[in-house]
Amino acid sequence: MSKKKKLPLPKLGDGIALVDTHCHLDMHAYNDDLPDVLERAIQTGVIATITIGIDLESSLKAVQLAKSHAGIYAAVGIHPHHAEDLTSETLDELRKLALEQNVVAYGEIGVDTVKNYAPLAAQEKAFASQLQLAKELALPVIIHDREAHDEIYSLLKSNGPFPAGGVIHCYSGDSNLALKFIELGFYISIPGVVTFKKAEILQEAVKHIPITSLLIETDGPFLAPVPQRGKRNEPQLTLYTAQKIAEHPIIRIGGQTPDHIARIEVLYSDWIIDIGEVLFNALVEDFRNVLVQQVA
Ligand SMILES: [Zn+2]
Ligand SMILES: [Zn+2]
Repeated sequence: MSKKKKLPLPKLGDGIALVDTHCHLDMHAYNDDLPDVLERAIQTGVIATITIGIDLESSLKAVQLAKSHAGIYAAVGIHPHHAEDLTSETLDELRKLALEQNVVAYGEIGVDTVKNYAPLAAQEKAFASQLQLAKELALPVIIHDREAHDEIYSLLKSNGPFPAGGVIHCYSGDSNLALKFIELGFYISIPGVVTFKKAEILQEAVKHIPITSLLIETDGPFLAPVPQRGKRNEPQLTLYTAQKIAEHPIIRIGGQTPDHIARIEVLYSDWIIDIGEVLFNALVEDFRNVLVQQVA
């Protein structure tokens, strides 16, 4: 057997940071070592993680985590797998939870035609009613789209516009579809899947999505990027994803390092996370410098 090449975790420059825009920190996989996971994230420059609700219980846990840990922010919502659990009482509970400290987005919500844990009609109904709730709460929406591009697109179109914006998480479509979502005011969040050898469509899409519409996520504990593929995913591994995206042609002109991606990613994550004025201003300044270098 051939020896596997070692790929060290990329290092970000001083004062440069990343945001993991989608992780499930409440899940069992992190039960034994969550403090270490968070410490590793901070050490490697992943300054913030949004932990996502999939049902009422995990939404509650997400809110608790965001209240008790610096650098964790929460999203609340009912995942399409649990669409049939969505009653008017659940919606009332979520409405209350969404007002808690450090809740920055609504989700994840959407349609999943791969697992089909709930009938399509129930998924679409739960999706539409939660889109309306997110609008009422003026929160950005986090969209789960698994093999349901047409359903998602038409429901976003008919329920829009979304003044607080949103993100298509764990993006899996091509560049044309991405541009259509961007037109509706959505960001496109790229998971570690982009590092997989067979992810050619996603790799190609990333090249055509404007950098200013890209966000990065783990979807941890799932979908760890190469070279950790198959193992538990965690926020610090967004560095590998950033490195892969740094092959983006626009970025290449600027210097081909994950630093450029990280600067931009944090800048555009600010619409969901208040990362603090000082850091934000520093990043904006930094970003301008990068652009100047690219144009020169
Ligand atoms: Zn999802
Ligand atoms: Zn998720």
